[in-house]
Amino acid sequence: MSEQEFEMLFTESLLKLDMYIATQITKRQIFQAKGRRHHVERNKAFWKHQNEKGEPLVLCKQCGAIESSSYCEPYKTQIIERGLCYHCNSWTNEIAKDDPKRLVIDGHIYGDGGNQPNASRKDFLGFGGHVWTIERDGKVWQTNNLWSGSTVPAEYRDRMPDNARFVKASK
Ligand SMILES: [Zn+2]
Repeated sequence: MSEQEFEMLFTESLLKLDMYIATQITKRQIFQAKGRRHHVERNKAFWKHQNEKGEPLVLCKQCGAIESSSYCEPYKTQIIERGLCYHCNSWTNEIAKDDPKRLVIDGHIYGDGGNQPNASRKDFLGFGGHVWTIERDGKVWQTNNLWSGSTVPAEYRDRMPDNARFVKASK
């Protein structure tokens, strides 16, 4: 596409991202969506260069982000065929995958790396070794090795509901 067409695509992307941000509900969802807009804005020179090289650019059907197709397979083909940015494509894959170990608590994804009470280096553990008590399907356990993933975007929330909760320590 010409330089002028690129400029129009870029402007359209930011407008659509603003609309997308407005669809997010929680603070964390909004923060994450704003991060995506910053990413698109910050990398304008990169998108422009990709276009000059003849690499196809994708305007994400879901969030409006500009995306390049310069990823390794299978992502490259998925991004082009689905017309999604890297993030929306990843969420589509994540939803399709039924990961029994995935914890969704208050709309945020966590992974339990396994409790390691005898670890000598707490800084190697998730959340610096902070001990969390988690309940899932009536089962309660503690872990000092919890890892934080992404916040589930609003549009995926019904397909990725909470499946666990933090239990507050009783005093
Ligand atoms: Zn997207």
